[in-house]
Amino acid sequence: MLELEARVASLPKVELHQHVDGSIPTEVTWELMRHYGLNPVPSLEEMRRLLEIQDDEEGSLLAYLDKMHYPLWVTQFYENITRVTEAIVDAAAAAGVATLELRYSPIIHTYAGLTPRQSIRAVLSGMNHARKRHDMKLGLIVIAMRQHGPHIAKILARQAIAEAQHLHSRTGVVGFDIAGPEHGNPPRLFRSAYEIAGLGHLGLTAHAGEDAPADYVWQAVDELGAQRIGHGCAAVQDGELMRRLAKDRIVVECCLSSNYNTGAVGRGAPHPIAAFLEAGVPVAICCDNSTVSRTDQTRETLRAAEQIGLDAVETIHRESAAYTFIRPERALQDADAD
Ligand SMILES: [Zn+2]
Repeated sequence: MLELEARVASLPKVELHQHVDGSIPTEVTWELMRHYGLNPVPSLEEMRRLLEIQDDEEGSLLAYLDKMHYPLWVTQFYENITRVTEAIVDAAAAAGVATLELRYSPIIHTYAGLTPRQSIRAVLSGMNHARKRHDMKLGLIVIAMRQHGPHIAKILARQAIAEAQHLHSRTGVVGFDIAGPEHGNPPRLFRSAYEIAGLGHLGLTAHAGEDAPADYVWQAVDELGAQRIGHGCAAVQDGELMRRLAKDRIVVECCLSSNYNTGAVGRGAPHPIAAFLEAGVPVAICCDNSTVSRTDQTRETLRAAEQIGLDAVETIHRESAAYTFIRPERALQDADAD
C-alpha cells in the first residue's frame, strides 16, 4: 500500500475541476477570521467541523453546500482572495499537481464592493504569485451561478473574455462553466452566455447530471457546446448519451469523494467512472472541493485506483493533460502587472 501511495504521489497529476471556495485550507480561513475577530467558534478543531464534511453529514447535498459559507465572510476583499488562492495552489503543488485549473464564481465575492472584473483579477493575482514558486500550468475557469440567471451569465462571459489567457502574458481565464442548483435552471437557458464564451475562445464546461437527469447533460452538450461535463453521473443511465460522449471525446470531470459526500453516488455503490471508461468516455480525476471533501489530488487518485486500478489512473492523468483548457504559453509583448 505504501508503494502504491508513493507511486501516486510522484505521478504528475492533472486537476481540471477544483473550486476555490471549497478548497481554501481551513488554517488559512481560520487565520483570516482571527485577523478580523470573526471566528464563530473558539478553536481551529471546531472550525474544521464547520468547513469539512463529517461522516454523519455524508449523503446530503445541502450539508455539503453549507460548508462553503464561512469563507465568504473574508473572501470579499482583493488581498484575501489573492492569499487564499496562493494557499490552494501551494497545497495542489504539494500533492503533485502539474496542471491546475481552478474555478470560481466572481459574483459571490462582490458583496463588499469589488467589481466582477476585480474579483476575477484577485484570483489571477494569487495564481501569478504562486506560479513563481511552482513549475505548474495554471488557469482559471469563470463560473456563472445558475440561480443568478442567464443575463448575469452573459455579463460574466464577457468579463471572463477580458481576462482570457490568450490575451495576456500571464495566468488568465481559460474556461467558462455554470454551477449551482440544477433543478429549475436547465442548461439550455444559458445558451447565449456559452455562445459569447465560445466566441472569446474560452473552453466550455458545465456542471450537469450531478443532481439532475441525463437530459441536462444532453442539453449541455447539444445546446451549450460543452467540451467537458462536471460530474455527469446521470449519463450512465443513458446508453445513447454514453456513445455520444465517447464519439465526440467529451470529457467527464469525475469527483469521487464529492459525489459520495453529496449522495450523487450512494455509499458503497461503485462510482460511474468505471462505466465511463468501459464505454470509452474520456474522464479526469478531480477534487471538486478539497477542503470540504477532506481530500487532495493524491487521495482522489488513490480512491479512484481502488475502483479501477493503478494502471488506469496513471493513463487517465497522462491523457487528461490533452483535455486542459490551458494553452501553451505565448510571449506577448505587454507587461501586465502581477
Ligand atoms: Zn464542482
